[in-house]
Amino acid sequence: MMTVSRHGEVAERSMDFLKLLSDPEAMQLMLFACPDGVVVSGPDERVVLYAGASEVIFGFAPIEVLHRPASELFSGEESYAAFRERLVGEGRVVNMQIAAARKDSAPFAAAVSAVVLRDRYGVELGSVMYVRDHTKVRAIEEALRKNNRRLNELVRTLNHVAQHDQLTGMLYRGSAIEAAEAAVFALQGSEAGFGVALFDLDHFKQVNDNHGHLVGDEVLSALASVLRSVARQGDIMGRFGGEEFIAFLPGASLDATRAFAERVRLAIGEARVSAGSGTEMRVTVSAGVSAIPESATTLEEAIRIADDRLLVAKRRGRNQVAWDGGSEEVSAA
Ligand code: GH3
Ligand code: MG
Ligand code: MG
Repeated sequence: MMTVSRHGEVAERSMDFLKLLSDPEAMQLMLFACPDGVVVSGPDERVVLYAGASEVIFGFAPIEVLHRPASELFSGEESYAAFRERLVGEGRVVNMQIAAARKDSAPFAAAVSAVVLRDRYGVELGSVMYVRDHTKVRAIEEALRKNNRRLNELVRTLNHVAQHDQLTGMLYRGSAIEAAEAAVFALQGSEAGFGVALFDLDHFKQVNDNHGHLVGDEVLSALASVLRSVARQGDIMGRFGGEEFIAFLPGASLDATRAFAERVRLAIGEARVSAGSGTEMRVTVSAGVSAIPESATTLEEAIRIADDRLLVAKRRGRNQVAWDGGSEEVSAA
């Protein structure tokens, strides 16, 4: 019994709902309750219904809009034309972004969904547009884009900090070798050489002992600046250890690498570093150089040979460049 009576009730309510749908006044009420702007235009594209939140969204009263071309509600002729083209072509448009006109204020970003209305024979009766104010969504999108840009900048900065020595601005050992490996790889198959020059300041411990660590730091920065000024674009430089620096020279022969190291050595010898209280000091540097293919076939081997030759330069008296550990050939002393 209970079930039957409940069924009866539901059926009765459904009838009410159908009656509601066929009641033009109820339909109009429902259209006006729509949170989007509802704009219906006839086949001549003139507005025949201006309902829902249209008045709130566009700011125009119905009397200012009814029987006017629907295009007047949109500020850019071109984007409205593109919207119409898509609507007519596809019969439906979903959430298309168009600049819409607002009475007495600047155009706003609208998201428009629309369908072409046709009778049962397929004849076009007009179209209905649901217009949503997208200004806030746009603002959120813009804020997200801005945050994303900031995040990307932060990641770039973090990467830079992770790869570079703060005192000298040079790449750390690992990052310098990684960059050198990529450069060697890029040169594969070509005739070009690849130079490696390893520098170590002479008697640097004495600089620290005699003038203090801060002056020592200044000297390290000065060596880094000299390296940067002598290097060419594409050369890779790194701080290899405490007072050791490395330069990788893509495309350089052993001879060119030796000449580079020599220029650095001379420039360091000429540099004056302030040692505080008006006094200036000078330092010298020793270097070992090697190159692919003259000294080695791999980067690892070339670095090891440059390191051996650096020790040779030290043994021979410092302030010089060694490019051949086996012989007594030394560029200067
Ligand atoms: P050599 O001519 O044989 O190379 O002698 P050296 O005194 O330069 O060599 P040693 O290896 O004995 O000393 C290197 C010094 O470099 C010791 C260390 O305190 C100093 N050093 C390493 N890193 C830094 C740094 O970042 N700042 C300063 N001020 N000193 C550093
Ligand atoms: Mg040293
Ligand atoms: Mg050293």
